[in-house]
Amino acid sequence: MDAEHASATRGPVAVPLSATVTTSSATMTASGAPTTASGATGEPGAVRATGAPRDGGLLDRFGRVATDLRVSVIDKCNLRCTYCMPADGMPWLPQTQLMSADEIRRIVRVAVQSLGAEELRITGGEPLVRKDLEVIIAGIREDNPDLPISMTTNAVGLDRRAQALKDAGLNRVNVSLDTLHPETFAELTRRPHLDKVLAGLQAARAAGLGPIKINAVLLRGINDTEVVPLVDWAVSNGFEMRFIEDMPLDGDRSWSATNVIPARDIRAAIEEAFTLTADPRGRGAAPAERWEVRRPGETALAGHVGIISSVTEPFCAACSRTRVTADGRIRSCLFSHEETDLLTALRDGADDEGLAQIWRDAMWAKPRAHGSDRVGLARADFVQPERTMSAIGG
Ligand code: SAM
Ligand code: SF4
Repeated sequence: MDAEHASATRGPVAVPLSATVTTSSATMTASGAPTTASGATGEPGAVRATGAPRDGGLLDRFGRVATDLRVSVIDKCNLRCTYCMPADGMPWLPQTQLMSADEIRRIVRVAVQSLGAEELRITGGEPLVRKDLEVIIAGIREDNPDLPISMTTNAVGLDRRAQALKDAGLNRVNVSLDTLHPETFAELTRRPHLDKVLAGLQAARAAGLGPIKINAVLLRGINDTEVVPLVDWAVSNGFEMRFIEDMPLDGDRSWSATNVIPARDIRAAIEEAFTLTADPRGRGAAPAERWEVRRPGETALAGHVGIISSVTEPFCAACSRTRVTADGRIRSCLFSHEETDLLTALRDGADDEGLAQIWRDAMWAKPRAHGSDRVGLARADFVQPERTMSAIGG
């Protein structure tokens, strides 16, 4: 028996990454900061805090409520984007540790029906690598007829599956596309598949999987000259363009703060060709700051652009996200150093309320920002989480 399935009696557990810890005696300090099992205050290595609500939704110590659920369905991918994965050598989860379609369905049902999740994003790795993706979505849809379900995908292979995914109950997609040049695409993703992505996008639009958003990560010296062409192409095609600041979650561990193209520079680049006006609908808890885009001299709206400035203008105070990895671990923050094993509890027979309480406890301990109670990805003591973006589920 492996460590994942070693105990029939344990309760919820915060698992330091790649550790085999199965119990925790964490308590809360008067300040509300979590203590570790050894009694030391705070992070790194803070473990499950008690003091979480015993009913209701996913509240944390800072008053945030998580209603935006992101579920990774697989850690594998058919591309190797340099900002996300190493060229090779990525360790994959064994098949037995991946959540099955039924397990994903159950976890989403608990999140929605017991914990008040209001929207679901399917992610990965690359969700389309899962052959049973349509089955997964159809099951979730059957349980939750009104749940908005979106998917973040690189769209490779979407041309053959867009209609079936729509029929299964998927509402919309975000497609990752960092460049419109085949050579740059091949360099950046280490695969020559730009044509497949574009075919997937077309099929998604034809199937009605919109509004479609395009996600791009800008890399200095690689695709940072494509800001205006990408916005132009996106608004011309009815897509919302979104730029994401490069975050320290890459497989090569070569991220550097000085290489990040800051949101203010992205805005300035767009404004050389378009007029930007703050979206009057505001931002709410959304990660992207949204702007209306107009062509020079025109009053008609050309489209929208969003900028996700996790590094230079963090939005953690308004974060409403809760994540589940493909092996069924709750991550309260992208940058967390702890995870809580929900899947083992499910496999050990926990009922819905038991699973919901594990989740409440995990989210109660959500760090203030960037995996820590201190803010900032460029700060000297920032420690990159062990799991990289594709293994977490972006
Ligand atoms: N494979 C799918 C895709 O690429 O859309 C879904 C998973 S991917 C991890 C989700 C999103 O994370 C993508 O939009 C990708 O661009 C983004 N991403 C990956 N690594 C990143 C990093 N280091 N910094 C910022 N965004 C990143
Ligand atoms: Fe794959 Fe998406 Fe990561 Fe690119 S960003 S390597 S497509 S998981």
